[in-house]
Amino acid sequence: MSDDAIQVSGVVKRYGATTAVDNVSFNVAQGEFVSLLGPSGCGKTTTLRMIAGFVEPTAGALRVNDRDVTHLPPEKRELGFVFQNYALWPHMTVAENVGFGLKLRRKSRTFIREKIAESLSVTGLSGYEDRLPRQLSGGQQQRVALARALALEPQVLLMDEPLSNLDRALRVTMRRELKELQARMKMTTLYVTHDQEEALSLSNRVVIMNKGRVEQVAAPYELYENPATSFVADFVGITNFLEGSAVGVDGGSMGVRLRSGQVLRAVAKTAVTPGAEVRALIRPERVTLTTKPVDGENVLSGQVILSEYFGAVLRYSVRLDGGEILRAEVHNFDNFVETGAKVWICVLPEHLRIIPQE
Ligand code: ADP
Ligand code: MG
Repeated sequence: MSDDAIQVSGVVKRYGATTAVDNVSFNVAQGEFVSLLGPSGCGKTTTLRMIAGFVEPTAGALRVNDRDVTHLPPEKRELGFVFQNYALWPHMTVAENVGFGLKLRRKSRTFIREKIAESLSVTGLSGYEDRLPRQLSGGQQQRVALARALALEPQVLLMDEPLSNLDRALRVTMRRELKELQARMKMTTLYVTHDQEEALSLSNRVVIMNKGRVEQVAAPYELYENPATSFVADFVGITNFLEGSAVGVDGGSMGVRLRSGQVLRAVAKTAVTPGAEVRALIRPERVTLTTKPVDGENVLSGQVILSEYFGAVLRYSVRLDGGEILRAEVHNFDNFVETGAKVWICVLPEHLRIIPQE
């Protein structure tokens, strides 16, 4: 017995010479919200469609609620789907759209009426029963699509970029509504998105994909603070990469010798061998920046080449004395530093990660 609602094991999908999905494995626990995150074309939709049963895997196995569904047709998998283009039937009312799946399953009229009312209520659409899709806003149409999936009471809900056709303000509102709804209904959800903000804010865990492969599976905090690869660090948030070679430093911890010869001490989460070519990762918001000379460990000096004011935050591009450009982001209660100023930047070892160069 497994507690997982979804288990994806070594799944591969090839289209001729193209490998769309390349040996992907991950699981989704009961009640968990997991996102598949990655750039366009990395294989997210193909992975989701294999789980749904619309695409046959070339290899690998899929289990839903501990049942092997690899070769079952979609309707036997007890999954709900919400897609990017809501795919509502234009000639049917909201209530008819939501009840259609139940009608196909030959449920009683009373049962269907109850389920429609319930699904419209949880999605905030009570009162819209008799509208046609074209009489609704994009956000409302998307909620109808969600209500239609919920009406079938799926054990697991699969969503493919459900918010990406909405404008930004609506997307943020719908994102919050979705999070509340999922928390309330404790529904197992697998959510596909290319939007890191959506993935980080909605998910218990995120599966980061790149070129058909899984780069990392981790909770949002882990992903951001301890990216396993340069790809993850670059895709999730903004990161400075400083290239150098790994060195052992006092006390058994790791360091990176920059091109300038300067050594920075860091926390290495993955094993790196001394001498190996590595990258030091520094998040822009993890540095302190001052115009007063500072002495000591992990201090870099340079000159501000671009200074930007954004109200709540101040952003700087600094050309380090070693030649690299480092981006820094500080809160507005620090003093604004003008372009051209000489600055000192401190990074605590625990905020500096070393990863191997790929
Ligand atoms: P994503 O959803 O992450 O944008 P997809 O899963 O849609 O990525 O696509 C992954 C790769 O597989 C892409 O290179 C895409 O062109 C290819 N692909 C997807 N579906 C097909 C198909 N039916 N036939 C051929 N190639 C496909
Ligand atoms: Mg897609």
